[in-house]
Amino acid sequence: ERTGAAPDGARPPLTVLAGPTAVGKGTVASYIREHYDDIGLSVSATTRSPRPGEEEGTHYFFVDDEGFDRMLASDELLEWATVHNRYRYGTPRGPVLAAAERGEPLLLEIDLQGARQVRASMPEARLVFLAPPSWDELVERLVGRGTEDAAERQRRLETAKVELAAADEFDEIIVNDEVPRAAARLVELMRGTD
Ligand code: 5GP
Repeated sequence: ERTGAAPDGARPPLTVLAGPTAVGKGTVASYIREHYDDIGLSVSATTRSPRPGEEEGTHYFFVDDEGFDRMLASDELLEWATVHNRYRYGTPRGPVLAAAERGEPLLLEIDLQGARQVRASMPEARLVFLAPPSWDELVERLVGRGTEDAAERQRRLETAKVELAAADEFDEIIVNDEVPRAAARLVELMRGTD
């Protein structure tokens, strides 16, 4: 572990989950939200519109460009990034600091650019890389999801290639072979029972 544990052996309460596009970060995070009460999830702000089933304040805080600009201007975001050259996403700082203060484990499911910003500003955070079982598997998931058109898929594959190479910047790597297994492994790490 890079910096991590406090002198008393407490585990760092902040964990960042990042990884290439379509690896299933969101699915693992949702699984944890639904199955593990003791693990908090950071709720990001985003400029994209809600998808069916997504709720304001649970999955995201949905804001317009002006709203996002205001959050930036008032320094409310711990990190932020434009993802896939389109929408902006950012982590509200307040809940992260509050969780750290209370010693409660908190999970940030964010992209690689955001993970690097957290590493820079909170070196005690644990960075976990969610990896696909294989490149072919990743391509299959991206195509199979069917939510993006061909041009968008191509753009995301290019991003994924670069992102896969970043795995060695992380403290831990979890292979997302099965969501419940990957989630359980992540929770073990966060509870400090690994
Ligand atoms: P989606 O639009 O599919 O929910 O998320 C798209 C991407 O945005 C995912 O890779 C997700 O990890 C990333 N993302 C979500 N919230 C944040 C955030 O607060 N900060 C950063 N940097 N990325 C985020």
